[in-house]
Amino acid sequence: MSDVVFSSWGAPIMAAADTAEENRRAPAGLPGPFDGRRDIKAFFGWDGIVLCAEDVNVVDMCRAYMTAVRDQSCGKCVPCQTGTRVMTATLERICRGAGAPADIDQLKDLAEMISQTAKCGIGQSGPMPILHALHYFRPAFEAAVAKKKAIPAGEYRSHVGTLHGGLSDSSGYSALRGVHKGR
Ligand code: SF4
Repeated sequence: MSDVVFSSWGAPIMAAADTAEENRRAPAGLPGPFDGRRDIKAFFGWDGIVLCAEDVNVVDMCRAYMTAVRDQSCGKCVPCQTGTRVMTATLERICRGAGAPADIDQLKDLAEMISQTAKCGIGQSGPMPILHALHYFRPAFEAAVAKKKAIPAGEYRSHVGTLHGGLSDSSGYSALRGVHKGR
């Protein structure tokens, strides 16, 4: 991974103002397919957000990430099945420039509800980076809603895997990374 400009992956939070070189390295615990890669611009997964570039559009990355989580939902429990669909539709609406101020708090409420009531790791951990984004980058969501302009979709690659340990044995997870153009 390139130098990290923001990380909520695990603790503590690291922000761009922290210029200490040892704090700008990729955090521990990233899944194998992402650890050590230098072409990664941003990473969303079950334990938070890692940004390695200032120009990542966090709102658009939330949309793409939530789409990947929604597509993994097996539909066995309603909070995950319905909640991830509504969250994805809400993020799509915001990214189209048709969001409303109330959408931001609705996203937070849904993310909390899904993570607290879903039956497996996909639903329990899937909304976590959205909660981090809403907490640390709320002005970006407010600006997207206020401007009412479409946000260009970024280029992302998703990864679906199984985590042994971290959450519970064999919890499913979704991760998404933004990539530099041309790679
Ligand atoms: S939380 Fe797990 S069991 Fe429930 S719908 Fe999502 S993927 Fe299926």
